[in-house]
Amino acid sequence: MTFDYDDQNIFARILRGEIPNKTVYENDHALAFADIAPQAPVHVLIIPKGPYVSLDHFAGHARPEEQAGFFQAVAEVCRIAGVDDGFRAIANTRAHGVQDVPHFHLHILGGKRLGRMLPEVG
Ligand code: AMP
Repeated sequence: MTFDYDDQNIFARILRGEIPNKTVYENDHALAFADIAPQAPVHVLIIPKGPYVSLDHFAGHARPEEQAGFFQAVAEVCRIAGVDDGFRAIANTRAHGVQDVPHFHLHILGGKRLGRMLPEVG
């Protein structure tokens, strides 16, 4: 599997400051911001600052400090959002995962009881 990163994707442009975002949390290795089309009362996207297209790309190739920084951001977002009653983390990946933006991002969804996973699959 090879991973080709397109640096014109919208999250790369957000990281370069070319497009505004509603930042929830930021550290040296990750940025978390509100999803522009929220699908739950809490809907935050967490992205690494490095050029990774997908979860498997990030998990297999990001340096340990990048991975630590990313998961520190996950913890901080959950704390800030107050999702003590639970949440769902989703990483849509490539065609079968219906990934629209080719920069790895983790959706954190919560703030209410969510429906079952994969309602369209059957
Ligand atoms: P995915 O299908 O997992 O690639 O989801 C991409 C997500 O990015 C969607 O939930 C969009 O609503 C969200 N999105 C797209 N553009 C922006 C933006 N400029 N700011 C915040 N969220 C965005």
